[in-house]
Amino acid sequence: MADIDYDLVIIGAGPAGLTAGLYAARARVNVLLLEKAVPGGQILVTDWVENYPGFPEGISGYDLAEKMRIQAQDLGLEIETAQVHSLDLSADIKQIILKDRSIRTKSLIIASGASPKKLGIGEDKYMGKGISFCATCDAPFFRDKTVVAIGGGDTAVQEAIFLTKFAKKVYLIHRRDELRATKILQERAFANNKIEFVWDSVATGVKGLFGIEGVHVQNVKTREEKTITADGCFIWVGISPNTDFVKDSVKTDEFGFIIADAKMQTNVPGVYVAGDVRDTPLRQISTAVGDGAIAAVCAEHYIENI
Ligand code: NAP
Repeated sequence: MADIDYDLVIIGAGPAGLTAGLYAARARVNVLLLEKAVPGGQILVTDWVENYPGFPEGISGYDLAEKMRIQAQDLGLEIETAQVHSLDLSADIKQIILKDRSIRTKSLIIASGASPKKLGIGEDKYMGKGISFCATCDAPFFRDKTVVAIGGGDTAVQEAIFLTKFAKKVYLIHRRDELRATKILQERAFANNKIEFVWDSVATGVKGLFGIEGVHVQNVKTREEKTITADGCFIWVGISPNTDFVKDSVKTDEFGFIIADAKMQTNVPGVYVAGDVRDTPLRQISTAVGDGAIAAVCAEHYIENI
């Protein structure tokens, strides 16, 4: 086999990638983990995690991410800060193309996660000026102010509850009259008198010259339009896979999430996927961790047998 740099490269240092790295490092695989930003992934912007076993009082997303990073590095995992530009998976030796060099590896785990979806209501213009995807980062700017939160899933409901620690009022706008979020979060949101639900409604735009002054909303049943006066707008309407660098090199579903078998192997031998970027029925820290462990062990078997 031609010269290689690593037996295994992992892309992404969220819970899936860090767990894969931890398992590979303990198995003494020649492994490198590439992360474009700070290790931790989406849990870095999750204020509180209470459904990851082993932490009965809950733990902040930041602390959990740090514990995962420290554990993996203490066990010997090498982490490099680098953004992957593209992949060449056409030969047995896979090439990972970075800005200034490429890395050759026998196997690869894609654990690049997902990012918040945009609605196209001015996110780029008003980012940092009233529109946000991160309550942990930005909620303190809205102390005693009124904010709008958009979405009906776990993220929107959990983060809307967190926002009430700062804001005096949170309007939760959802396009249906029923939330998608898990029941315990729904119960807490319904019991929170700072949250007012705006059902059957979508945000159509924002008002404001230099910052947010309001959010334009339309009722999808009655077509009635109104503007909710607010100082901030948090958008949590789902996630898109971080697969720009993957292009057409592995099979994905219609939304771009990468398809894998029970061994986390994609349609390309030696290329595995783990965590939120995978086509999976459940996206949790616990499932990402499980994906990462399976992907690492199966990659190790693959490396031993080629
Ligand atoms: P999600 O579960 O996909 O929910 C997205 C929400 O946004 C849905 O309520 C959806 O409405 C709404 N939506 C989607 N597109 C919209 C549009 N164009 N306009 C208006 N509303 C729109 O996404 P998520 O809440 O970000 O969660 C992502 C994954 O992470 C999920 O698997 C979730 O369970 C997990 N997660 C778990 C926790 C936790 O366990 N504590 C916390 C956060 C996230 P519909 O309901 O009508 O489709």
